[in-house]
Amino acid sequence: MGHPSIFEHIEKNRSGVARRKNRSAVTLMVAVCLSMTVIVIWEAWSSRQYHLHDKEVAMSNLAQTLASQAQSSIKQADTLLFGLVDRLENEGVGPGQLDRLQRLLSAQRNELSQIHGLFVYDENGRWIVNSNGAEVGGANNSDREYFIYHRDHPDLGPHIGPSIKSRSSGEWIMTVSRRVNHPDGRFAGVALATIYLNHFLQLYDSIDMGDNGVINLIADDASIIVRRPFNEADIGTSLAKSALFTRLLPTAGSGTASTSSIIDDVERVIGYRRVEGYPLIVFAALDKAEVLAGWRRQSLLSAGVVLLLLGFSGVLGYRLIKLMKQQDLARIELLGTQDKLLELNRNLELLALEDALTGLANRRQFDLFIHSEMGRARRNETGLALLMIDVDHFKAFNDQYGHLAGDECLRSISAIIIDNIKRPGDLAARFGGEEFAVVLPGTDYVGAFLVAENIRRAVEAADLEHSESPEGRVTVSVGVCGYNPALQAQTEDLIGAADKALYVAKTSGRNMSVIAN
Ligand code: GH3
Ligand code: MG
Ligand code: MG
Repeated sequence: MGHPSIFEHIEKNRSGVARRKNRSAVTLMVAVCLSMTVIVIWEAWSSRQYHLHDKEVAMSNLAQTLASQAQSSIKQADTLLFGLVDRLENEGVGPGQLDRLQRLLSAQRNELSQIHGLFVYDENGRWIVNSNGAEVGGANNSDREYFIYHRDHPDLGPHIGPSIKSRSSGEWIMTVSRRVNHPDGRFAGVALATIYLNHFLQLYDSIDMGDNGVINLIADDASIIVRRPFNEADIGTSLAKSALFTRLLPTAGSGTASTSSIIDDVERVIGYRRVEGYPLIVFAALDKAEVLAGWRRQSLLSAGVVLLLLGFSGVLGYRLIKLMKQQDLARIELLGTQDKLLELNRNLELLALEDALTGLANRRQFDLFIHSEMGRARRNETGLALLMIDVDHFKAFNDQYGHLAGDECLRSISAIIIDNIKRPGDLAARFGGEEFAVVLPGTDYVGAFLVAENIRRAVEAADLEHSESPEGRVTVSVGVCGYNPALQAQTEDLIGAADKALYVAKTSGRNMSVIAN
């Protein structure tokens, strides 16, 4: 049987396709999960960058605003100092002059709310005049940083010193000072304006900087002038080692960054800017953890949702792949069943070559057989003969004994025919109704006639009762024909010739064998 190998091949092919399909499904699942993960991570990363950038811009803008606020506050005080120094140098410090100056300073101080006081010291650090009008007495400020600075530096520009606690009022103040010269250029003293640190702090505290945000006003020498949140200990602290002074300011006068504080070690998003015209830097910073808190919450939420989705699609995918595998199994089973059915069908086909009633070859097998045997006889020039056997008066038999008895009679005659054909190559067939055909390969009409007579006599000898027959028993008539390739081209020609001989046997009285001429 050549069929199974074809089916095996098809099945092998199909299971290969199924394996590839499963692998593709798994790959697709993995790819979908991976890309979802990558998208979420990328999304979270860019959202983080956006959050940070957004706050950097905000801090940069805030630094810009605070720098101009600081500049204008200080400029107002410094403008007063500039006028004061000019007056002192040109008009001197005579007693009448001091009186007028005292009134002027008081008036000017009252005009500007940020000004704590305006003071003038002589070259020895003694108070000459001040805006508060307090007793000048023996107060001496020659130990203050601004005094020492101006005494030792000839430059006439404004100087901003470290923040201090006022000796006159006990409040934290920032100092802006200028040097006063004698006409010959020698040091003549210092004109000083003090600004309430509160003036800055009130503004800084009104800005929402979160729980851990910082605003610093820093001097050029890196010392802190004001810091929000306010803490006395921070004032004057040097930030020289901070990233702002080591890394950022040397490259740009303003900018943004993300750095760790050297004061509290907190990482912050910062914006900074130099104050125009003054040796000051404004620095605004938000706690990075606070800035990213919202982002972190949102990212965790979306990661959770995606994880849920991934789990869901994982389960779905797993079930889908399982289903596909089951489907493939079912297909393989189906293929096996189909195979079995085909096998069964082949058996049925074999069965279909047999006559159900008699067990002889049926008409179909007879047609195939005689066709191939005629071909073989023609090619090999071997003999071939055909017998056509017909039961005599069989209609009457049926009428007399019934159809079932007729069937039984046909079976008996079949057995007799089989008994009388001896060669394995011979074929006995039921040609139709009560007619039989016997094909005898390698036999000529003489040999065939002998076989025909044997059958006829055997039927006669069986003595099957047939009251309606003149013989009183069942008999058969036989037409015998030897194959002549020259005369009989088609199977119909041979069968026709045998039929003619049978007809002659019938018309000549039945129960006889007649050879076709
Ligand atoms: P003849 O001697 O001229 O052959 O007469 P006959 O009656 O045998 O011939 P006819 O052709 O008139 O009748 C044949 C009968 O065979 C008719 C039919 O009822 C019967 N027959 C055909 N096939 C079967 C069968 O399978 N079983 C039975 N019981 N009878 C069959
Ligand atoms: Mg007949
Ligand atoms: Mg008959």
